[in-house]
Amino acid sequence: MNSIKDMISDKEKPQDCEVHGQYISKNYFGQIWGKCPDCSKQEAEARIEREKAEGEAQKKERAIKLWAAKIGHAQIPERFRDRTLNSYIAKNPGQETALAFAQDYANNFEEICKTGRSVIFVGKPGTGKTHLAIGIALQIMVRHTVLFTTVQRAIRRVKDTWTKGSEESETDDRCDQCNCLSRSADHGRSRRAVWI
Ligand SMILES: [Zn+2]
Repeated sequence: MNSIKDMISDKEKPQDCEVHGQYISKNYFGQIWGKCPDCSKQEAEARIEREKAEGEAQKKERAIKLWAAKIGHAQIPERFRDRTLNSYIAKNPGQETALAFAQDYANNFEEICKTGRSVIFVGKPGTGKTHLAIGIALQIMVRHTVLFTTVQRAIRRVKDTWTKGSEESETDDRCDQCNCLSRSADHGRSRRAVWI
């Protein structure tokens, strides 16, 4: 019986590749001969590309899931989720001013957040107040916690904290879904939640 050592050879022979022509093939072991080096190189490159594309696709999928979770977490209703500042069309000078204000507010939110400066949009129905508020929220949501609510709901929530045995203090910005405080790690670095 041949030992493994006997089966390992350093033999070489010319081989033909249909694509790259003649090459010298090495006999590695028994009947195992080396493939065309150019084909091997191409296969390796293709594998790297494929893995890279798969990695990017997974990364993209994770980002989409994370975004969907954030949107759900923020309780922004489905019908409002495309209301970005970019999609807001200002039709009169008042709306132009409001849009410019909203853009400025969102762009400088890091600083504004530290001062606690709030904003209330006032206007007739259908002028785009909710659109602007959500536009700000969608822009700053990448780094901050956002919560869509109504005045009634917010008041009820504060009132609920007055009941005996309530786990929530009226000063907490506690999240409904996971009961975290808005300053906890995964939900933005800000200590303040943004209430729309
Ligand atoms: Zn080849």
